[in-house]
Amino acid sequence: MMYSLVGLKRGFISSLLLFITQISIVYYRTVDLAAFNTINLMVNLVSSYLVIWLISHTYEFHRHEVESTLSNLASRDALTSAHNRLALTTAFEYFQTHRDKEELSFLIVDIDFFKAVNDQYGHDIGDKVLIETSQLMMQIVGDDNLYRIGGEEFCITLFNRSLDEAHLIGERIRKLIAANPFIYDDHHIHLTLSVGICEYKEGNRIEDLLRMADHELYRAKKSGRNQVRLCPTAEQSVDDNEQKVPVTATSHL
Ligand code: GH3
Ligand code: MG
Ligand code: MG
Repeated sequence: MMYSLVGLKRGFISSLLLFITQISIVYYRTVDLAAFNTINLMVNLVSSYLVIWLISHTYEFHRHEVESTLSNLASRDALTSAHNRLALTTAFEYFQTHRDKEELSFLIVDIDFFKAVNDQYGHDIGDKVLIETSQLMMQIVGDDNLYRIGGEEFCITLFNRSLDEAHLIGERIRKLIAANPFIYDDHHIHLTLSVGICEYKEGNRIEDLLRMADHELYRAKKSGRNQVRLCPTAEQSVDDNEQKVPVTATSHL
């Protein structure tokens, strides 16, 4: 019962404590009573307790393993083992409800001309490129922050990182991929990627972040690819608007 109530580790500790308490109570209550054969009683009690304990522990251990395998299958992409879109939504909802982290910078990364890799070297090599690219990005942002949200499109969450810090990280990823030799079966592939970055503002939904970062990604693609683009910050937008006002005013004069 303790295993199903409090899980594997705590179940083990609490049932061990219960076992010691029970054995002590039974021992001290029966040791002076002539009607009881204390040794026999203790042997029966300990052996039956141990059997039930072993079965419960084994059962809970396997249940725990199955549970984490299922949760991995549900939250990870089978090819790259990066997290998937469902996991992104879950992580974002957790961030919004708990607010134990203050900032969130949000990156969308898309491999440039990836279709050409498939066309030129085949789908299998394309898959290897996706796996290696994920691993390289994980080296920089950690396994927890990388999500595969499309074919060759990834999303990165950077909690407690400002837009400037996110920019530096985006640049590190871009440079790492551009400098990395992707070598498979004598094929040397040179790759680049484009990155769009935005930051979370109070009230944003995940769709808003995806849309804003995607807009910057689109700009990066349009301006020649292999680059990192940032959403304008609130201050920049205000500055831009203020700069625009006199121009409009003059034109009305
Ligand atoms: P751009 O620079 O504009 O992003 O061009 P692109 O060629 O990267 O983009 P496009 O959207 O035209 O092509 C994406 C390709 O990704 C097409 C699709 O066949 C391929 N793809 C999607 N999922 C997978 C996958 O799991 N494995 C492999 N090998 N290819 C995939
Ligand atoms: Mg692409
Ligand atoms: Mg794409």
